[in-house]
Amino acid sequence: MTAMLFKNGKIVSGSKTQKGDLRVVGEKIAEVGKELEPRPGEEVYNLEGCYLLPGIIDSHTHFSLEARGAVSDDDPHAGGVSALWGGVTTVIDYADFLPEKPIGEGIEKRKRVFSQCPVDYHFHLVLNKHFTTDRLPELEELVSMGITSLKLFTTYPEVGYMLKENLWPDILKKCKKIGLLVTVHAEDNSIVEDKTESYRKAGLLDFKYHSRHRPAESEVEAVKWLRGMVEKTGCPIYIVHISTSGAWEVLAEARDRGLPMLGETTPHYLLLDENLFNYPRAAKNMMTPPLRRGADQECLWKGLAGGSIDVVATDHCAFTEERKLTAENALEVLPGIPGVETLLPLTYSYGVEGNRFSVQRMVQVLSENPAKIFGLYPHKGSLEIGSDADLVVYDPRPQWVLKDEDLHSEAGYSPFSGLEIKGKVKLTMLRGEVKVRDGVFTGKASGGRLLKGRR
Ligand SMILES: [Zn+2]
Repeated sequence: MTAMLFKNGKIVSGSKTQKGDLRVVGEKIAEVGKELEPRPGEEVYNLEGCYLLPGIIDSHTHFSLEARGAVSDDDPHAGGVSALWGGVTTVIDYADFLPEKPIGEGIEKRKRVFSQCPVDYHFHLVLNKHFTTDRLPELEELVSMGITSLKLFTTYPEVGYMLKENLWPDILKKCKKIGLLVTVHAEDNSIVEDKTESYRKAGLLDFKYHSRHRPAESEVEAVKWLRGMVEKTGCPIYIVHISTSGAWEVLAEARDRGLPMLGETTPHYLLLDENLFNYPRAAKNMMTPPLRRGADQECLWKGLAGGSIDVVATDHCAFTEERKLTAENALEVLPGIPGVETLLPLTYSYGVEGNRFSVQRMVQVLSENPAKIFGLYPHKGSLEIGSDADLVVYDPRPQWVLKDEDLHSEAGYSPFSGLEIKGKVKLTMLRGEVKVRDGVFTGKASGGRLLKGRR
């Protein structure tokens, strides 16, 4: 059983920052305070100069995603190992609604896929085009299984995700009633189809047109439409991967009026822009929604700092460069990039060291908020006594330049390579087990658990 005393650190949770010590006994945090005395048999870890943070929660990953006749290259084992290197101890991934089966079977199926995952995990259930309103009562079973959220799409008819417009009000009313959170991929599909079609006719399908095929206004219009749905039904909606200033403005305005709308953005919309699609081998850096303009990035940072965007997650969906580059044009690319391992270092380097927000705010958007929003708090996202001992020791002093070979995803590359990083994960602990320490993977490369949530 783990007995470990972290001493003399800056202990940062979403609610407070204190200098002091933290004791772990078994899988839990046992004590937090000043000048705690070591006990016999206990390992003492000197935190001098480092932050001690709650384990990071990536609330948007796609490990072994099956879509477009392909499976993404990081399975839950590889993705989870990569996560731990980056201080991520919990991921929230996706399960599908299976039309021929009871609703819980979608979760069970993914649980089997995750059996070798080394981080804890939870699932959003995707209600795809097969969902019909006679299945609505079954959503209550999800709640009793500990599932706290759904994922709905306003686009992607080609992969069967897009949900017909007339189903939305009934689903949202039901979710409001039973406390399921609705997360949404927001792009107006008719705008995407019209634009893509006109670019196709003009022969403009090169990678550099990706952001034109799926323009900013498609996201803005979808978020406006969703705002109307929230007004009509009162059901809270969480918009995933917000990429544009326009969508953020709609969200911020809705929140000012007290509407229950939540927002997530990702490191790639904060740090990369559409110019990347002009470079050779652009396909490897493509995801959907596309990268936007530099001006959008500043608005998203502002939203995070000011509180109108709640979460930074990654949308981690890794494919090798080789597989990405087989595409001949923007419409053929397998969309998605790796990200889980770089979530904390990038948010720290450009959020905290970039003077955009405090370390405490970073802990809110990377750990406390996702834990609260998806019903995992205070087991996760907290440094209170009795919380799971999911911990990250982050040393802010090393300065380095990110390189592909530093990372552990099966993708083998990172779109963020070349960026300067401040700080390094020195230790990652999951429920009392040290998984990564000083550049060595020391823990079991399995052992993650399916988490039950309650909202
Ligand atoms: Zn996604």
